[in-house]
Amino acid sequence: MPEIKDILLGNQKAGARMIRLIENNDRCAFDLLKKLYPHSGNAFIIGITGSPGVGKSTLIDAMITEFRKRDFKVAVIAVDPTSPFSGGAILGDRLRMQRHAADKKVFIRSMASRGQKGGLSRATKDTAIVLDAMGYDIIIIETVGAGQAEFDISFCAHSIGIVSIPGTGDGIQAVKAGILEIGDIFIVNKSDRPDAEAAVLELEMMLEMRSTQGQISNPSPGWTPLVQKTIAPKGTGIKELVDTFLSHFDFMKKKDLIEPKKKDLERLYFNSLLKDLTLDKLMLFMESSEEYRNVLQKIKSSSMDPLNAAEIMVNKIIRF
Ligand code: GDP
Repeated sequence: MPEIKDILLGNQKAGARMIRLIENNDRCAFDLLKKLYPHSGNAFIIGITGSPGVGKSTLIDAMITEFRKRDFKVAVIAVDPTSPFSGGAILGDRLRMQRHAADKKVFIRSMASRGQKGGLSRATKDTAIVLDAMGYDIIIIETVGAGQAEFDISFCAHSIGIVSIPGTGDGIQAVKAGILEIGDIFIVNKSDRPDAEAAVLELEMMLEMRSTQGQISNPSPGWTPLVQKTIAPKGTGIKELVDTFLSHFDFMKKKDLIEPKKKDLERLYFNSLLKDLTLDKLMLFMESSEEYRNVLQKIKSSSMDPLNAAEIMVNKIIRF
C-alpha cells in the first residue's frame, strides 16, 4: 500500500500505486483518498476534448513542453472511453507523450472507462485528487468527445478547451452536440490546412450568438470564449494557448469564480460517492441475509427467474 507521506511528497511510484488502487476499486483507496483530500484543491485543472484524430494528444504533448518551460509541474489523465479491443491507437497516443517520461515533473496516466465503479467521472475525479495532492500545478484531462452520458468533463475541470479542425463542419457539430456551451477556449488545430480562417470565423460567429442570445449558460460568467489556432506538431500557437488557459484561471480567481465552481464540483462528487457507498453497503447487507440465500437457491432450482428474484429481494429489504 502506498504511504500518504510519499504521495504528498510527489513520489511518482507511490502515486501510480494509489491510482492503481482506484482503478481496481480497492476499498483501501477510499481511506487513503480521505487523507489526501485536504491536501488537494491547489491545481489548475484543464479539460481538453474533441473528436478522435483532431490532434488532442499532439496538442497536449506541446502544452506540456510549454508549461514545463514555465516551470509548472504537469500531470495528464487520458481518459479512454473505448474498449480494449481498439487499444492500438490509444497506445500510440500515449507513446507520443512519452518523450516527457524522463521528466520527473511530468506524470502521464491513461484510464480505461471499462469496469470503473460509479462510471468514469468518479475514477477520474479520484485520480485528479491524488495528482493535486502530489503537488502538480496543472492537471490536464483528455477525453474523446464531451457531454457523453458516462463522463462529463465539465464535472472535473476549471477550464475546458474544445479542439476542432478546419474543413469538417465541426462547428455545426459542436452546436448539435451541445459542447459549445461548455467550452471556455476553442482550439482550431491543424490550421496548416486550408479553411483554417473560415473555421475560426464560423466558431467566433457561433460564440457571438451564444453570448448575445443568452440562451446558453456561460460556464464562466463574464468570460468571452476565445478561439485559438494551433499547429500542434510544430508548436505553433501553443504559447498563446497556454497563455489563454492561464489567463482564464486568473480571470476565475479575480472574479471569485473558483470557490463556487469548487462547491459545485464537490456536490457532484458527493452525489457519486453517495451512490457508490450506498450500493456497496446494501449489497453487503443483502448478500449476508437469509432471504438472499433462499432466493439464490430458487434460481438454482429453476423455481424462480432472476428478474422476479431481484425484484422480490429489493422489495423485501427496502420498504419506503
Ligand atoms: P487525437 O486522436 O485527437 O489525440 O489526435 P492525435 O494527436 O493522435 O493526432 C492525429 C494525427 O493528426 C496525427 O497523425 C498527428 O500527427 C496529426 N496532427 C496533429 N496535429 C496536427 C496539426 O496541427 N497539423 C497536421 N497537419 N497534423 C496534425
